[in-house]
Amino acid sequence: MKTCKHCKKSVTGPHCCEAAGRTVIYEDESNFVLSAAIGHATNNALIGALAGGSIAGGIAGDLLNDGVIGSADHGSGAPDDGDTDDGGGD
Ligand SMILES: [Zn+2]
Repeated sequence: MKTCKHCKKSVTGPHCCEAAGRTVIYEDESNFVLSAAIGHATNNALIGALAGGSIAGGIAGDLLNDGVIGSADHGSGAPDDGDTDDGGGD
């Protein structure tokens, strides 16, 4: 719950503010942190955004993992240039 600085109403999210003459969006900072944590834990920006309530937070948390939005393959970054075929005839 926040208080709109324009009209002094108590708002919980985006609200159409007559005083400001526009829709005012309040994104709670705690939502961002929570979404980032969940996005990081799940490596999924969408899950973090949905669970935490902050799209930006979910994306930020996901990016913390590997710099890629969405699931990326972890641990298999080694180039496959040393193939060991055992055809040792010389
Ligand atoms: Zn307002």
